[in-house]
Amino acid sequence: MSEPSTDRAPLVQLTGLHTGYDGIPVVRGLNLTVGSGEVVALLGPNGAGKTTTLLTISGLLKPVEGTVSVLGEDTAGVSPYKIARRGLAHVAEDRSLFFELTVQENIKLGLRGTRAQNKAAYDRAMELLPALAPLGKRAAGLLSGGEQQMLAMARAIVSEPKCLLVDEMSLGLAPIIVERLLPIVRRIADETGCGVLIVEQHVHMALEVADRAYVLNHGELVLEGTAEDLAKNRELLESSYLGDSAMH
Ligand code: ATP
Repeated sequence: MSEPSTDRAPLVQLTGLHTGYDGIPVVRGLNLTVGSGEVVALLGPNGAGKTTTLLTISGLLKPVEGTVSVLGEDTAGVSPYKIARRGLAHVAEDRSLFFELTVQENIKLGLRGTRAQNKAAYDRAMELLPALAPLGKRAAGLLSGGEQQMLAMARAIVSEPKCLLVDEMSLGLAPIIVERLLPIVRRIADETGCGVLIVEQHVHMALEVADRAYVLNHGELVLEGTAEDLAKNRELLESSYLGDSAMH
């Protein structure tokens, strides 16, 4: 695993973040960073505020208080589209695919460069996700759950993001498929320097690929540390999920 970068500004930096819906925060006082080449896991029980945090980083929700910086710039007043153009890709929980379009057409929606750059980016995505290669002409709606998740990842990868957010890659998937998909985010981080923030319910699988992790519970940070330390300290991790916070 790569060492977390300490010499450069974080790709994502949340400072004292309160965020939620209709001005009511469901996440409170969150400080979090993602560095270049790092895989960071955002963990916690259902309803803890993980998805809300990712939506705020990509600009789809506005902070109630605190700041969000993406790729070195504050996102206040910046549209989600502009944040994405800076180099942020977000694989949402619902995968946001166009079911009536083919696999290739869905992937094309993520392409950003010249014809030659796009070809290289496409080939690279197929190298990372080879199971998709023979499915290019198939409608996305006809793919299995695992294939749809791979397609959502491929569309994000071809945009060659500097920072990638992945919300519950494992949703609805068999653990064996998750075991195959999670190492792909590790490779993306290692090989491209992209910073990756994953939300994942399969905690131990996530800790196997992550450098660091944060645990949210009821909207508050209750535990953070290196993935290695958290994986070793199962009791502490479990108590953080039960709300028996280690940080309070
Ligand atoms: P899960 O693992 O179940 O997906 P999560 O940690 O991602 O959970 P969030 O989806 O961020 O949790 O939800 C955090 C809280 O915000 C929950 O109490 C949820 O009910 C609430 N919430 C989510 N979406 C909305 C919304 N659109 N309007 C109001 N409250 C919402």
